[in-house]
Amino acid sequence: MRECLFCKITRGEIPSRKVYEDDEVLAFHDINPVAPVHFMLIPKLHLDSLSQVSSEHAVLLGKMLLLVPQLAKEQGLDHGFRTVINTGKGGGQEVFHLHIHIIGGGNIPPMVRRN
Ligand code: 5GP
Ligand code: ZN
Repeated sequence: MRECLFCKITRGEIPSRKVYEDDEVLAFHDINPVAPVHFMLIPKLHLDSLSQVSSEHAVLLGKMLLLVPQLAKEQGLDHGFRTVINTGKGGGQEVFHLHIHIIGGGNIPPMVRRN
């Protein structure tokens, strides 16, 4: 995936402020944060979105979910955090490389309701 933005970040071709890295995953701060702490956890393996995953990715996805609270704690989010996975155009996804947003600090409001 030569032209994928997050693959380029994974390869170090575009700089990022790293939070965590191992051979399978990378976490880095969002360039345009929506809260005092806002970083993303991505698999190094290119997957367009959550719509593309299958049972072969179960171990990787489980590892990522288990990492989230650990990394959130390391970033000082002791009182909780929000996780967001935007999926597809209908889910507001802009970068088509699977990522989990981890958002916290300050005042995170309850989810906005239509009514
Ligand atoms: P999405 O809307 O696809 O769920 O989230 C994409 C996120 O990537 C956005 O929050 C956006 O601010 C972030 N982003 C876009 N380009 C870059 C970049 O070059 N570096 C970093 N660190 N984040 C980026
Ligand atoms: Zn990619």
